[in-house]
Order: sequence, then structure tokens, then C-alpha cells
Amino acid sequence: MDNSSSYIENLICTNCGKEFDANERNGLCTSCGKVLYPKYNLEKTKETLSKQNIQNRKVYNIWRLHEIMPVKEQKFRITLGEGWTPIVKLNNFGKDFKLNQVYLKDEGQNPTGTFKSRGLCAAVSKGLELGVEDFVIPSAGNAGAALSAYTAHAGVKAHVYVPKDTPELIQKEIKHMGAELTLIEGLISDAGRVAKEEGIKNNWFSVSTLKEPYRVEGKKTMGLELAEQFNWILPDIIIYPTGGGTGIVGMWKAFEEMETLGLIGSERPKMVSVQPSGCQPIVRAFKNGEKYATPWDNAHSFASGIRVPGAIGDYLILNAIRESSGTAVAVDDSEIKESMYSFAKTEGIMVCPEAAATVAATVKLTNEGFIDSNDSVVLFITGSGLTTPNDW
Ligand SMILES: *Cc1c(COP(=O)(O)O)cnc(C)c1O
Ligand SMILES: [Zn+2]
Repeated sequence: MDNSSSYIENLICTNCGKEFDANERNGLCTSCGKVLYPKYNLEKTKETLSKQNIQNRKVYNIWRLHEIMPVKEQKFRITLGEGWTPIVKLNNFGKDFKLNQVYLKDEGQNPTGTFKSRGLCAAVSKGLELGVEDFVIPSAGNAGAALSAYTAHAGVKAHVYVPKDTPELIQKEIKHMGAELTLIEGLISDAGRVAKEEGIKNNWFSVSTLKEPYRVEGKKTMGLELAEQFNWILPDIIIYPTGGGTGIVGMWKAFEEMETLGLIGSERPKMVSVQPSGCQPIVRAFKNGEKYATPWDNAHSFASGIRVPGAIGDYLILNAIRESSGTAVAVDDSEIKESMYSFAKTEGIMVCPEAAATVAATVKLTNEGFIDSNDSVVLFITGSGLTTPNDW
């Protein structure tokens, strides 16, 4: 195996442990219907991957740690420069609360303006390696835009299903990048049903959140980068706006793999999920001590990326929150909006509503005493405010 390779072994069900071939197209576990994760030969990886070796690398995109990414051949690893986003120490925000170490990871600097590019870059690349020419996705907008960018770049086809109220700017973005766009009456869950039907009928590869094993690997790179950027000592608290939860579970997977590789210790940040009050299935399940989250009825919020009534990876999200002694918190749309304005004014960063939810949550959790003034806290700014043309 040459040193540009991947040590992927197979896919493994996160629920029942059944194994699947990583050289074939797979979606969910065919036995129990739950989420599959790629599994790597970490003992072998350990031989080549040291902190020193990593720090000498010149690749600053999601393929930086290609050994623990799922694409075997270099020629299929496409990139638009996603990943390796900056950590920014906040200047004014937190002063009122005497918070000394608040950082953000600015995912708004990714291609298409959101962190969705990481996951879709990984999924499209692996799809290319598996010979896929047609991809299908249900999306609240940002994932559809990211898919369209990578399929355009690779010269293959995207079929995107979004709710009718998706911002016009994002609809245009998707269309201009050559994807087939279909508007759906209802929410992302309704778009999901139609996308699934059409996908099966036409034999398209579905890259619906966590219903295939590769987007999570792209999102995992946020955790890999965080460790390196914090000099291999993870922060105390991570605050993450949670929809389908790919990012939070991806980072959780990254931390486990890095510990096995000897890159970090056994300590973990407290993982905090933020959801909007109008759609908070994970918050409710966390508070009720449930293993799975019951879908949320009449979901509403203008933070559409986290307006996700039901997530296939609910048990993985809840597990990460609980094992890390984290928490889950809901914030109102009015608090989100207020945070968008105050953050722009005090820090010079325009953030999208989903990202602003982490700011509102930080205020709430500091008031409640969950966050202490000496904690190092990282807010995931999952997208730029420039992707949110309405209501600013
Ligand atoms: C999709 C999205 C989220 C939620 O991400 P998950 O990892 O699926 O929970 C948060 N913020 C923005 C901007 C998004 O587009
Ligand atoms: Zn299974």
C-alpha cells in the first residue's frame, strides 16, 4: 500500500455490528436499518501517522489525513478547497459574562459558504470511485448547493429536492451549477420521501444525511482539524447547531479514531446540541432520557438547516452528548435573530441563523452555570450569513 492510500477496511453497522463491503454501493444497514460507518485499520495507520508527520503536510483540505478517509485512489479525491477553516478567538463576545476563551470555527469560509461542502466532497469523491454518475439528495438548501458544486466540478449529475420555501438565492445557485432542482411542498422530511422514491426508481446514489456512510467522514475532518489547531488538546466545550447531526457524530468518531492513533488522550469536550424551540426532537429526547428521538410535530423555525423533525442518527447524537457529559438546549427564533445582529456588530462576522443559534445557546448556558468562565468553548459557525439573503 503506497503512502497516499486509505486504510479503509469495510463498513460497519453502528447498531448491530454487521459488516459491509466498502467497494460496493451501500446505504443503511440491510439487517436493522441503522447507520453504517467506515472502519479503518488504525493499527496500520498508526505506523505512518505521527503528529510531526501530520504537521509537515502541505494538503489543507479534507484529504489532509487521507489514511482515515474512505477514498482509496488519489484521482477520485476531488476538492474545491473545503476544510482547514480558521479558529478565531472572539474579542468582545463573552466579555459581559467574563468568558475568557470563546473561539469559533468559521465554517462559513468553505466553498458554497457552509460546512456542507465537507460532507458532500467526501460523498461525491467516494461515489466517483464506486462508478456513480447520478446523485440524489433531499436538502433544506445548503446540502443541495454543496452537492451541486461537487457534481459540477466532477462532471456528473445531481438531483436535488428542497422545500418550496428554500431561499431563492440557494435555488439559483443549485440550478446554475447544473443540478436538476425539484421544489417540494412541505419540509425536508417530505423532500426526503420524494427523493427516496425517485432515487430507487432511477438507481441514483442517495447522499441523504447519514443514509450513506461517507458524508460523515467529510464532517469528521472538523474534529481532526480541531485537535491539530488546538495543539492536540481538545477544548472543554463544543457547541453545535444540530439538524441531522452528521457533524456532531462525525467529530465524535474523529476523537475516537485519534485516541486509538495515539494523537489525543481519553478526555473529550462536552458536546452540546442546539436546536430551535420550534423543532427540538433531540433536546426533548435528551431531557427525557430516551435512546431515540420521537419526530417533532409541526416543525417551524427560520433556521432551516436545523429544522429537522426526525434524524436517522438520533441515537448516535444522544450517545455523544451523554458520553461527553454534554447537554442539549433549545433557543427561540427571536434569540437567534438577535444573535445574528449582535454578533455581526461586536465581532465583524455575519453568521447564518443556524450558527447564530450557538451564540444564543452560549448566553443561555452561561446564565445557567453550565459554562464556566475558565472553560474553552468552541462555537461551530456552520455557515456564512451571506447564504441567508432573507430578513437581514
Ligand atoms: C445542515 C446544517 C446544519 C446542521 O448540520 P448537521 O450536521 O446535519 O446536524 C447546521 N448549520 C447549517 C448552516 C446547515 O446547513
Ligand atoms: Zn445493523
